[in-house]
Amino acid sequence: MENNIEIKKRLCPLCKEPKYSNELFYNSEPWKLVQCQCSFVYMPEVPIYERMKNEFSWERNFEKEKKVSLKKKIRRKVKTLIKRDKLKFLLNRYCEKGDVLDIGCGSGAKFENISKIYTPYGIDISEESANKANISFKKRGGKAICAPSTKVLEEFGENKFSGAILRSYLEHEHEPFEVLKNLKFTLKNNACVIIKVPNYDSINRKIRKEKWCGFHFPDHVNHFTPKTLLKMVKDANYEVIKFNFLDYLPTSDNMWMVVRPI
Ligand SMILES: [Zn+2]
Repeated sequence: MENNIEIKKRLCPLCKEPKYSNELFYNSEPWKLVQCQCSFVYMPEVPIYERMKNEFSWERNFEKEKKVSLKKKIRRKVKTLIKRDKLKFLLNRYCEKGDVLDIGCGSGAKFENISKIYTPYGIDISEESANKANISFKKRGGKAICAPSTKVLEEFGENKFSGAILRSYLEHEHEPFEVLKNLKFTLKNNACVIIKVPNYDSINRKIRKEKWCGFHFPDHVNHFTPKTLLKMVKDANYEVIKFNFLDYLPTSDNMWMVVRPI
């Protein structure tokens, strides 16, 4: 790590315990990965937000992956289509029409095949992505802003959203519990929150170790298992609507969950 990189120390995002005894070794130098006594796996030191916006923004880290084979590209495209369909299915099944907030919206591409009964709003920490999303969301009556989500949720006002999408987002968020808690203010009572995160309990992580696709240092600062994800949403006062075995198969690298504010 260069000396001029500003970092922030974190308590365990799940139980707020400042100490950890178990440091995990996944070739993450200079970044540390630890497991708390409560079993949550996280990075106790993270680059500060301003740097996320510039040097460590997600799009930048993804840029490194440009040199991929055609076979891989096709496989990714197919996976993307499946993912979009899953999101589409969950929205149609659990979310009433209205405004939907996508936290960590990226360039907004995931709304392309989503029903017009939903008006997209988004937040993203990358300026470039948020600008792109804003252009496409505006056409549908919504908007996207560039900010850390811990700071802007209140600005949307109370009881605004019929749904929220937290897809491939919570693993990046420095304060995942606080975001889940504060999100409730801007959700309608019967709103649904669709969550997708990498599953640290996946077989692939155990086999591939540091080569597991769920590791992205220093972007992925939290690693959830079905147990720790459940605990976090329950502690933040959400009711679990959908989280059955098929949503967290150990053979999948990711897991999906649908929750509703209590
Ligand atoms: Zn803990």
